[in-house]
Amino acid sequence: MNLQLPVYLDNNATTPCDPRVVDAMVPYFTQQFGNAASRNHPFGWAAEEAVDYAREQVAQLINADPKEIIFTSGATEGDNLGIKGVFEMYASKGNHIITMNIEHKAVLDTCKHLEKQGAEVTYLDVKPSGLIDLAELEAAIKPTTILIAIMYANNEIGVIQPIREISAIAKKHGVLLFSDAVQAVGKIPVDVKADGIDIMAFTGHKMYGPKGVGALYVRRKNPRVKVTAQMDGGGHERGMRSGTLNVPGIVGFGKACELARLEMDKDAAHTSRLRDKLEQALLKIEEAYVNGDPAHRLPHVSNISFKYVEGEGLLMGFNKNIALSSGSACTSASLEPSYVLKALGLGDDLAHSSLRFGLSRFTTEEQIDYTIEQITNTVLKLREMSPLWEMYKEGIDLNTIEWAHH
Ligand code: PLP
Repeated sequence: MNLQLPVYLDNNATTPCDPRVVDAMVPYFTQQFGNAASRNHPFGWAAEEAVDYAREQVAQLINADPKEIIFTSGATEGDNLGIKGVFEMYASKGNHIITMNIEHKAVLDTCKHLEKQGAEVTYLDVKPSGLIDLAELEAAIKPTTILIAIMYANNEIGVIQPIREISAIAKKHGVLLFSDAVQAVGKIPVDVKADGIDIMAFTGHKMYGPKGVGALYVRRKNPRVKVTAQMDGGGHERGMRSGTLNVPGIVGFGKACELARLEMDKDAAHTSRLRDKLEQALLKIEEAYVNGDPAHRLPHVSNISFKYVEGEGLLMGFNKNIALSSGSACTSASLEPSYVLKALGLGDDLAHSSLRFGLSRFTTEEQIDYTIEQITNTVLKLREMSPLWEMYKEGIDLNTIEWAHH
C-alpha cells in the first residue's frame, strides 16, 4: 500500500487546484500579465480576451449569459454584494429579507449588518432534516419583502434545498431570490434559468479552482436585476464591482468551471460511491447517526455523529493523519457546537461528536479504507474509556441521571 499521509477529506473547506487549472493560469502571471482594462495595447487585449473566455466558461456551467457574470474575490464578497446590493438598490420597495438559520456566516453576518441599517430580517428555522419548510417560507412573505436568501446546499451537512419550489414561491410574490450556491456549483447541475434564481454567489476554491476568485450571477432578463456596488472605483464589471480584474485567477476559475461541466457526472459517481462506502461502514458502529436528509444531499458529503464519544478526543485520535472538520467551531478560546447541527435539533454533545467528510475527484479507495479503519478504532477506543458509554451499555437511562453542577 502506498498511501500518502495525511489524507485530505475536508473538501468543503477548500479543494486542491486541479493541475489542469494551474497549467491554464501560469502564462497569465508572466507573459500575458496585462490589465484587462488596458484598452489600447496588445497586453490589455490579451488579458481582456482571456477574461471574456473565462466568463463564457463560467456562464455555461450554470446556464447563464456571460453578461450576467460579475467576477468577485470569492463567495464572501458575492454574498455581501448580492444581499447588500439588493437591499440598497430596492430600498424604495421594502426592507424585509427572509433567510434561514443554517446559512453560511457570510450570509448571516451580512443580514445582521443590514439589520443595523434598518433591514428587517426573518431567520427561518429548518426541519430536523435540514430542509426548509416551504409553507413557513411563504407565510413569512410580506408586502415589504424584497429578497429571499436561501443557500443551494449546506456546507456542513450537504443538504440540498428545494430551490425550484422556493423560486416558484418567490416569483409568485414578486420577490427576488438570492442563493449562496458555493457548495453546489460544479458538483450537481445548477441551472439558473430552470432553477429560477435571480442572484447567485459561487467561488473557485471549492471546485478545484484557485482561491480568491468567484462570481456573482445577476439576472438580466425576467426580471432585470440590479445590485448597488459595494466596491466603488473604475466601474469594472458593468459598474457593479470595481477593481482590477484578477486575470490569472479568473482564467483558472473559468477552466475549473469547464472541467466541472465536462466531468460532473464522472466526479459525482466517483465521490458518491466512496462516500456511500464510508458511510455504510461507519454506520456499522453502534449509535452513529447521519446528520441531514440523506435523500437530498450533495454526492460527496457526509456528516456523522457518534454518540457517547467526546468530540475533542475524536479529532485528536487521528487528525495528524486525516484532515476533517468536526461539529465544533473554534470561536475565541472555547469550542462552540456547530450552529447548523444545533438548528437540526442536535444537543451539544452530538454536535461536538460529529465529523464532516467532504470527498473530492482526487479521493481514492485506499484513503477511504484507511479512514474507515482509523475512525472505527478511535470511536471504539474512546468508548472503552467513557463512563457514559458504560452506563448506556448497562441500560441506565442517561436522561434520568441528575448530574452534579459545579
Ligand atoms: N458560503 C458557503 C456556503 C461556503 O461554504 C463558503 C466557504 O467557506 C463561503 C460562502 C465563503 O466563500 P469564500 O471562501 O469564497 O469567500
